[in-house]
Amino acid sequence: MREPQRAVVIGAGFGGLALAIRLQAGGMQTTLLEKRDKPGGRAYVYEDKGFIFDAGPTVITDPTALEELFTLAGRRMADYVELLPVAPFYRLCWENAPAFDYGNDQAELERQIAQRHPADVEGYRRFLVYSRAVFEEGYLKLGAVPFLNFRDMARAGPQLARLQAWRSVYSKVASFIEDEHLRQVLSFHSLLVGGNPFATSSIYTLIHALEREWGVWFPRGGTGALVQGLVRLFEELGGKLELNAAVASIDVEQDRVTAVQLDDGRRFDADAVASNADVMHTYGQLLRDHPRGAREAKRLGSKRFSMSLFVIYFGLDVPPPAGLAHHTVCFGPRYRELIDEIFKAETLADDFSLYLHAPCVTDPSLAPPGASAHYVLAPVPHLGNAPIDWQREGPRYRDRILAYLEAHYIPGLREHLVTCRHFTPEGFRDELNAHLGSAFSLEPILTQSAWFRPHNRDARIPNLYLVGAGTHPGAGVPGVIGSAKATAGLMLEQP
Ligand SMILES: Cc1cc2nc3c(=O)[nH]c(=O)nc-3n(C[C@H](O)[C@H](O)[C@H](O)COP(=O)(O)OP(=O)(O)OC[C@H]3O[C@@H](n4cnc5c(N)ncnc54)[C@H](O)[C@@H]3O)c2cc1C
Repeated sequence: MREPQRAVVIGAGFGGLALAIRLQAGGMQTTLLEKRDKPGGRAYVYEDKGFIFDAGPTVITDPTALEELFTLAGRRMADYVELLPVAPFYRLCWENAPAFDYGNDQAELERQIAQRHPADVEGYRRFLVYSRAVFEEGYLKLGAVPFLNFRDMARAGPQLARLQAWRSVYSKVASFIEDEHLRQVLSFHSLLVGGNPFATSSIYTLIHALEREWGVWFPRGGTGALVQGLVRLFEELGGKLELNAAVASIDVEQDRVTAVQLDDGRRFDADAVASNADVMHTYGQLLRDHPRGAREAKRLGSKRFSMSLFVIYFGLDVPPPAGLAHHTVCFGPRYRELIDEIFKAETLADDFSLYLHAPCVTDPSLAPPGASAHYVLAPVPHLGNAPIDWQREGPRYRDRILAYLEAHYIPGLREHLVTCRHFTPEGFRDELNAHLGSAFSLEPILTQSAWFRPHNRDARIPNLYLVGAGTHPGAGVPGVIGSAKATAGLMLEQP
C-alpha cells in the first residue's frame, strides 16, 4: 500500500488550521508547526486575573464556511463550539450625532436611515441590491478559487467590470447614499480586513451583504474557543500540532521542497509544505537560501501593505456599562482625512477612530463574576510609513485612548481598571513576523487582489503552497478560510 503523503503547514492561524484540517481529512499526514505557545495566530488569547481576552478577530461572519470544515470530516460544529448571535451587529457612534444600530432588521434599518436622511432609504435599498450582486460574484463564486494564471482573472474580468470593481468602496457607496454618516456606516467595513475605503475595490462592499445573509456571531467562550474547537477536530483526525516550533528555513532541492528546519534544530521531512506565515517572511526569511526567495521578496517589497493596529486589552471590576453594545465603532471627528493619514502619514494623527469590543455583553463568562473584559483598537500606520518608537509612544497613546473612552463610553474606566496590556505594530512585526508590522498583510487594492496577490501555489517550486491573509482572497476570517479551501484543492489534487 502507498504511504500517505506528508504535509507540513507553517503557522496555526485560522488559515493554517483550516488547511491542516482539510489536508488531514483528505488523507495527507499533516503536521502543523506554530512558533508561539498557543494556536490562533492573530486570534491568540491572553488570560490574566480570571479575564479572557481574544487578541484579534471578534466579528465572526459566514458560519457556513466554518461548519464546512466539520462536515467534511463527518462531524457537527455544534459538538465543538457554540456560536451566539450578536445584536445589533455593530453600534456606530459619533461625538456629535445619535448612534446608529446596524443589524439585520430591514424595517429597523430603514427607520434609522429615514430619521437621518429620508432620501437615503431608497438609496440604501439600491445599495443592498448592488452589494448582493458583488457578494454572489466576488464571494460565492470566486472566494475559494485559486487564481493561478491570468486566464482565471480574464474570465472574471467582464463581471468585475460590470460591477465597477475599479471604483473605491466609498465612491460606490456615495453613488447611492447622500448623508455623510450613513456613507461611513456602509463603507467602514473594508477597514476590518485592512482596506482603505477610499482606495479598496468596491468588491469589498460584499461584506455588507455577507453580514446581512448570515449574521454576525460570537463563539461562547470567545474566539479562542473556536480556535480550540478547530484544533480538537484536527487532532481527532490524527493531525499533529507542534507549539513553540518556529520554522527557521524551508529546504529546497532541485526546485522541490524536501523539509523544514526549526530554530531549535529539529527537522520535518515533507512531500509538500504550505506556509501560513506572512508572505514576505516566507520568501525573504524561510526561503532566503533559494534564488526564488530573494526574487519574490524583492517583488513583494514594492507592494503596498495594510495599516497596523494599536490594541489595548483591559479588564474592569464592574460589568459593561448599561447600554454598551458588544461591538462599537467610535468615529472620531475626521473620517477621510484620518484614514488618509493612517495609510500614508509618517506620524501618528492627534485624533483617532476606535473599535471597542465588549464581549461580556454576549458572554459574561469571559470575566470573573461582576467584572468585564474589553479591548479597544485604533488603526495606526505601519512601521514602513511611520517608524514610531512604540516602546516610548505606546504608554502615552494607551493613556490618551483610555481617557477618551472614559469621557465618551465607559464612565469611571480608570478607577475600575484591574488589568491592562497593549499590543503595538512592533508586536505584529516581532511576535507574528508580519512585514512592516502590518495587521492584515498586503493591502487589498484591485491591483493586489486575485491573480495579482501571491498565489496559493508557488509558480517555481510546485510543492510549496501559501495560505492566509497574504494570498487570495485576503484577510479576515472568512477570507483565510476561503484561501485554505483554494490551497487544499491544489494540494490534494497532486499525484
Ligand atoms: C486586532 C485584530 C482584529 C481583527 N478582527 C477581525 C474580525 O473581527 N473579524 C475578521 O474576520 N477578521 C478580523 N481580523 C483579521 C483576521 O484576524 C486575520 O486576517 C486572520 O486571522 C489571519 O489569519 P491567517 O491565517 O492569515 O494567519 P495569522 O493569524 O496571521 O497566523 C499566522 C501564524 O503563523 C505563525 N508563524 C509566523 N512565522 C512563523 C514561523 N517562522 N514558524 C512557525 N510559525 C510562524 C504566527 O505565529 C501565527 O500564529 C482582525 C485582525 C486583528 C489583528
